[in-house]
Amino acid sequence: GWRSRAAFKLIEIDERFNLLHKGAKVIDLGCAPGGWVQVAIKRGASHVVGVDLLPVDPVPGADLLEADFTDPAIGPQLMDLMGGKPDVILSDLAHNTVGHKQTDHLKIMGLLEMAGDFALDNLKPGGAFIAKAFQGGETEHLLLKLKVTFETVKHFKPKSSRVGSSEIYIVAIGFKG
Ligand code: SAM
Repeated sequence: GWRSRAAFKLIEIDERFNLLHKGAKVIDLGCAPGGWVQVAIKRGASHVVGVDLLPVDPVPGADLLEADFTDPAIGPQLMDLMGGKPDVILSDLAHNTVGHKQTDHLKIMGLLEMAGDFALDNLKPGGAFIAKAFQGGETEHLLLKLKVTFETVKHFKPKSSRVGSSEIYIVAIGFKG
């Protein structure tokens, strides 16, 4: 079985966009408890590198780092573990909300921006970036950057996303490098 409900969201996204092809190299940001890692491997990824603040039980084919992605030392470590540019960068990063709307909003946007910048710096040309965002929580700034650096940028709301949640995924395809 899948370790997370989130697994179903990635399955839906990949059924629509077909990004996790055979042999794909994948980086997964905010990967605990490992549902997306399982899905990526199951759908043919040859190597997944993941990071989370929380420990993640091993998944064959994956290197999983317990660390804070916002620590500037971590990006290079992920790339070392990957051993080459990834075809796909996934981000399901989400902090525990503190309940203060403005604070939560800023944190969400901060994580998303960092994930986006990491993708722009490290993706293989032709690659894809899939990231959790929140309706109304996007920086225009990041979207603009993605729109000029990818062939296509779409928004996708999985049916398996919790009813009433403002969660939405950004799917950026065809990295121009
Ligand atoms: N996609 C995952 C799955 O299918 O199992 C679920 C991910 S969960 C929605 C979001 C994760 O982001 C949490 O496990 C949380 O610990 C992680 N996270 C939040 N901030 C982080 C940070 N700064 N560095 C690393 N992980 C972080």
